[in-house]
Amino acid sequence: SLTTVVRASLPRNMIENSMFEEEPDVVDLDKDSTAFPALEPDEVVYEPRSSRLLVRGLGENDLDDEEEDYESSARLLGMSFMNRSSTHNPSSSPYNRQAPPRSCSCSSARMLVVGVFILVLVASMAMALYFLPGCTFTKAGCGKANSSTPMEPSYPNSTNGELFPWNELRLPASVRPVNYDLSLTPNLTSMTFTGRTVINMTILHDTKRIVLHSSELNITKATFQSVEVKVLEYKPWQQIAVSFPEDLKVGQVCVLTLDYAANLSHTYDGFYNSSYNDKTGAKRVLAATQFEPQAARKAFPCFDEPAFKATFLVRITREPGYITLMPVIKSSVNITVVVGLLEDEFEQTGVNMSTYLVAFIVANFTSITRNVSNTLVSVYSVPEKKEHTHYALDTASTLLHFYNTFFHIDYPLRKLDLVAIPDFLAGAMENWGLITFRETSLLVGNQSSPLDKQLIANVVAHELAHQWFGNLVTMRWWNDLWLNEGFATYWQYTSLMTEFPQLDLDNVFLGVRFKAMAKDCLNSSHPVSVSSQVTTPEQVSEMFDSVTYEKGASLLLMLKTTLPDGQFRKGLIKYLDNYRGSNTVTEDLWNSLTQVGVQESVSDMMRTWTLQNGFPLVTVSRMGGHVTLTQEHFLLSADNATHTSNLWHIPVTYVNDSCSSAPSSTLNVSDSVKWLKFNYMNTGFYIVHYGDEGWATLIDALKTDINTLTPHDRASLIHNIFALSRLGRVSFRQVLNLLDYATSETETAPLTEALSQLSSVYRLLDKRQEQRLVARMKVNVPCSGAYQDWGEEESVSRQELRSVLLEMACSLGRQNCTDQATALYDQWTNSNQTKQIPGDLQRVVFSTAAQSDLRWLSLMEAYSSTTYDSEKRKILQALASTQDPQSIVWILSTGLEGGIIQTQELPLVISTMSDGFAGHLLVWEFVKENWDRIIEKFPVGSYPIQSIIKSTTSQFSTQTHLEEVQRFFSSLKERGSQMRSVQEALETIRLNQLWMDRNLPTLRIWL
Ligand SMILES: [Zn+2]
Repeated sequence: SLTTVVRASLPRNMIENSMFEEEPDVVDLDKDSTAFPALEPDEVVYEPRSSRLLVRGLGENDLDDEEEDYESSARLLGMSFMNRSSTHNPSSSPYNRQAPPRSCSCSSARMLVVGVFILVLVASMAMALYFLPGCTFTKAGCGKANSSTPMEPSYPNSTNGELFPWNELRLPASVRPVNYDLSLTPNLTSMTFTGRTVINMTILHDTKRIVLHSSELNITKATFQSVEVKVLEYKPWQQIAVSFPEDLKVGQVCVLTLDYAANLSHTYDGFYNSSYNDKTGAKRVLAATQFEPQAARKAFPCFDEPAFKATFLVRITREPGYITLMPVIKSSVNITVVVGLLEDEFEQTGVNMSTYLVAFIVANFTSITRNVSNTLVSVYSVPEKKEHTHYALDTASTLLHFYNTFFHIDYPLRKLDLVAIPDFLAGAMENWGLITFRETSLLVGNQSSPLDKQLIANVVAHELAHQWFGNLVTMRWWNDLWLNEGFATYWQYTSLMTEFPQLDLDNVFLGVRFKAMAKDCLNSSHPVSVSSQVTTPEQVSEMFDSVTYEKGASLLLMLKTTLPDGQFRKGLIKYLDNYRGSNTVTEDLWNSLTQVGVQESVSDMMRTWTLQNGFPLVTVSRMGGHVTLTQEHFLLSADNATHTSNLWHIPVTYVNDSCSSAPSSTLNVSDSVKWLKFNYMNTGFYIVHYGDEGWATLIDALKTDINTLTPHDRASLIHNIFALSRLGRVSFRQVLNLLDYATSETETAPLTEALSQLSSVYRLLDKRQEQRLVARMKVNVPCSGAYQDWGEEESVSRQELRSVLLEMACSLGRQNCTDQATALYDQWTNSNQTKQIPGDLQRVVFSTAAQSDLRWLSLMEAYSSTTYDSEKRKILQALASTQDPQSIVWILSTGLEGGIIQTQELPLVISTMSDGFAGHLLVWEFVKENWDRIIEKFPVGSYPIQSIIKSTTSQFSTQTHLEEVQRFFSSLKERGSQMRSVQEALETIRLNQLWMDRNLPTLRIWL
């Protein structure tokens, strides 16, 4: 799925891996051979299967075996290697090593892959815990019990008081569903539905019970092999079960039939009802589904885990005025026994699907359609927005063709529907064959700006990529969600860069890498492939975050640029081919790469990135021609105990100003080389510190000739120096020294990065009421004059740049900006909205207008009447940017209520308001007071909740606020206190506090 709110963990869990064992209550590590080798008691060595990545126990650090591996890793990348310093001290994490190699084949680019460098992985405390020897893992953690004698399980009570025959959140693996036959009868007047689910299943191990999921369904009758049976329910875990006196035998095929009734959901998941007002103002209702991650169980009883794939046959009964949609072609329409109702029967799905990918819709939508290869592609919307569907259809058709060709596997269904749903929480959801979207993520008017279209293309590209990465090949469990989301995010940018280069996605992708680092440099981050417990619904929801999506995509880019041309694609085709129709863990990806000839050392390298959280800081020091690189964990809260010894295999790249060849095995450059810039194009997921002299030479080089470095490299320097200043390695003065060059900067990537960094500093000062500094910054931020043109602009890159510059200038109150914006707004209203405002300028124009009471009211009217979704969203952001307390409170309560402002927009409203001074305190009060109602709408741990917590707290920087935030969240207990985003919020406030303490004095002197 894709979240759109603003712009948009640890070694693998032993219990999860045992899902296909009968009694996973206690799992014996020794038997768990799928991902982990047998461990001898007392042996503190972990060596993943066929891996040379050694994670050794604390204190042990014998590295001799690895010497060769470094060499081969390095050679693989076409480079030679360095000598390992022989006196390595395991307790000091900055791991000094003589830098390697490399000569430069002088030709054109000053880019040279230097090679995998370093790599001793000394097990950190956290990792060591998971690999303790001879340990039995139970729910309670690592117990003393001998693994061969499982503990007697204790079972909970069912709703009716009887013992429930299962005591795990994860289902037993003794039974496997093969096909679901679903009949559903929704009633859009009473907002209820009834259903019958017939599940065909096979028995994989002898068992006396069938356990599956069901939530908020009232089961009225159950039969097993045509005999009526009793169903037990354990509500806290959303499970139901049928017990049998005799074993069901291996290989037996059986049928369980369940009749039930339920209410259509009033939240955004399960089988939920949604409504909107049509052109005439009449209220129209519809019913739609959102099942990922764990809500299919709210629509029909099922084995609701991604590894339980099955086929589906669905019948839906409806009133004649509606249509029904399913991922497969409708096979017949029957008149039902109930007068006036019709029953649509869909063909059985030809492919095995995970439950979270099933979808159905009952609505009165209209569509446009096109045939692409052998697939009927359609875009559906409410009737009055039909003319806004063409861009999505064109884009989806092009991309479907692209993916079909690129992956060498055709999209397997005969139809592909893209549906815009008026009330929808996520950005979009990749249901197989029936992708659902927010209206703002799919519909765009013909006249809309390329920037608006860029958003639609992004979402469509992401969801289409999922049809392969996620739907065809699915992660086995949510801990490896990055295999879905990291890939979909990676392909979203990569496919568009290939097929729609004019949309300028490479700048966006660069910003995404920076964003991922902003989260991953905190203690509260997690590895991309999570090995700790991911079992509760909250833990599963929390997986949908920026690390899974954006760091996942960044690591794939790094892998791709590390491999020789074409090998990445070959490996992925192999991966898809190996696992089509089934489920995978991260290791399966590395194995597929190995099968196409990628060296094992690349998998070793990638494991250091996927199994550990965080990323490295590479420090460059140079003595004449001799360059030394060291690495350490880039962690902002460095006082924490986890700041130990994470080390990475880093594919280092660099550019310099000269191409003297130096065929040696250390990174020696000629003395005449003035500067070195590492991490070429910022494709590596690491930050580089050049030391005082190194920075000075780079700044000199830029001041002499800005084009010395590519725009991405310039943006990378800006990003890195701000990060180093937050870490306390460089002074803010040095940051400003670098920014001096930016007066001659005209490119989008470096300027937007500089402005976004400066505006976060500005917002912190603003919230601290540092009036004098704020006033100085208002004058000094370099955004005036850079763009004076307010007319139509074709280039997306220029649009991005100018909207950022102007939004900054107007929000700082620069007169020439606000005057222009207001004039454009008045023209627009005076012409009855016929005189168009260029799409990229709408937000700045509306937001400036919203600062006047009278114009705010006229914007409110425009908000209610417009049918252009992209425009509507920008108007809402403008309305929310008001500094008037009464309007702020009104918007917040209207948003929570739903209605004029839909509840789905609340996270966007909150994040917009939090940026403003008046908004940020009011919003925090609002969130505290209405917490319970907010989590009714947005589940604990979900992306909207993560966003709400982040935007309301991330600008606090005082002890008082820290304590208040701490107090509030700890008072929540199970209503949210355990969330990772709470840890992140507290850590961020502490860091803000630290930054202020460290930099305020300097800023006061300097500004
Ligand atoms: Zn997704």
